Amino acid sequence: MKPAVFIDRDGVLNAMVYDETHGLLDSPRRPEQVEMIPGAGAFLRSVKAAGYTVIVATNQPGLAKGTLTETELDTVHAELSRQLAREGGSWDALRFCPHHPGPCPRGNPKYVKACECRKPAPGLLIEAAREFGIDLAESWMIGDGLVDIAAGRRAGCRTVLVTSLKWSLAERFLNLADAEPDFVAESLAEVQRLILDGRAPDKQRGG
Ligand SMILES: [Mg+2]
Repeated sequence: MKPAVFIDRDGVLNAMVYDETHGLLDSPRRPEQVEMIPGAGAFLRSVKAAGYTVIVATNQPGLAKGTLTETELDTVHAELSRQLAREGGSWDALRFCPHHPGPCPRGNPKYVKACECRKPAPGLLIEAAREFGIDLAESWMIGDGLVDIAAGRRAGCRTVLVTSLKWSLAERFLNLADAEPDFVAESLAEVQRLILDGRAPDKQRGG
């Protein structure tokens, strides 16, 4: 049994994209929209070198909503992979949830359904753990959203919320049931010091 670093994609490995049509932040849909967050590749390289299996776990409900195709998703992942490699980083596996519970009027019926893999459900993590022989209790889930933390907790991993929110503001979110992370970090560099050197960020949340 091996330990893993499970990691969210949007907002953690790559920047979100501002969608002018809908006025909100969304996932990149085209390769030219992919912008790796600096340091993300170096982070993956360092945890892999330390023996962690790296598994990206991402909700991609655009597939269910009909706003994203499998081909587009593939091209985005190819570009992200290329950018991570510039810093020597890579993932061992990438698992995505294509579903949305609906209603999605113009969606892809194949993917509009309740499922067990859409975070905060832990399905992506648990399935990958089975496939790769991962010890979930020795593993970490890293994300910038409460759904990431909830999924990690339900899978039995230690959890780190990566956020640039002020601590006082973050704390309000953290108090929500079932989504309190073990640690809060401002950057993947801080997460790296936590996982590899046992140095908790200043604002430690239990552990
Ligand atoms: Mg995210």
